[in-house]
Amino acid sequence: MTLRVAVTGASGRMGQAVALAVAADTNAELVSLIARPGSDLVGQPINSVCASVTSDRAVRDSLDLENIDVVIDFTLPESTLVNAEACARAGVPVVIGTTGFSESQQALLNDCLAPVARCQAANFSTGVNLTYQLLAMAARVMGDQSDIEIHEAHHKHKLDAPSGTALSMGEAVATAMGKELNDLARFDRSSTREARELGSIGFSVTRAGDIVGEHTVLFAGEGERIELTHKAESRAAFASGALRAAHYITGRPAGAYTMVDVLGLS
Ligand code: NAD
Repeated sequence: MTLRVAVTGASGRMGQAVALAVAADTNAELVSLIARPGSDLVGQPINSVCASVTSDRAVRDSLDLENIDVVIDFTLPESTLVNAEACARAGVPVVIGTTGFSESQQALLNDCLAPVARCQAANFSTGVNLTYQLLAMAARVMGDQSDIEIHEAHHKHKLDAPSGTALSMGEAVATAMGKELNDLARFDRSSTREARELGSIGFSVTRAGDIVGEHTVLFAGEGERIELTHKAESRAAFASGALRAAHYITGRPAGAYTMVDVLGLS
């Protein structure tokens, strides 16, 4: 069956990458591309907005979910919430790559999406999802005796910091140590003058140039250290993972699926 996909964020870096991934997939069709209301792209043919996409349907400014099997959304939290409500109302599954939700926005999203199948991930790349498992293994074996630091680097346009992926990596580590990330995370050490607390997880961030996404988790013990690094070379890695998730959740019962499910990593 050909998967009929709607992609949001027509002018966005990820929206474009996902549209290209869908266009290149012989088992999927880009049925609808949605831009921000007021965008110059609204009304233009999809194939003029996104090279290699053959569809000449017009870019829309809102989701029309008739004849859509699944929505893939990489936009902004406020827009994702609106799109999620539309998906829930229409019973259409949704893949969410947007990051930077506040706790209350995330709670709203969870409530609103209860009736549909969804897959939300801060990072859809296969390598990062495998890295979460490697991190859990490292944390179980040497977390308690290590100073743990998470550094991430992204392009200068990224709005949220630290990245959703860095936070998910912190959660993978904290969970494997039987702790809550909120209790261990240290985001700002500029205002304190104290030695490092064993068991805390320090975060640091670089925003520069066109870096697609790099994450390193350091476990520094006595006389040795492990550094686990993932580098995304292009957005295609996220886009193809999101499309794989779209194929996976379509036709499944309502529920929150993860990349562990999609990649069969459990
Ligand atoms: P971007 O700024 O290039 O694109 C965001 C897009 O959202 C823009 O095109 C904007 O016009 C659009 N938008 C805003 N409001 C909208 C609305 N109401 N309707 C439709 N579109 C709307 O950002 P990006 O680099 O494409 O990243 C988008 C999101 O995806 C960010 O939250 C980023 O952190 C996240 N991201 C996630 C992953 C992952 O694997 N989960 C990977 C990369 C980026």
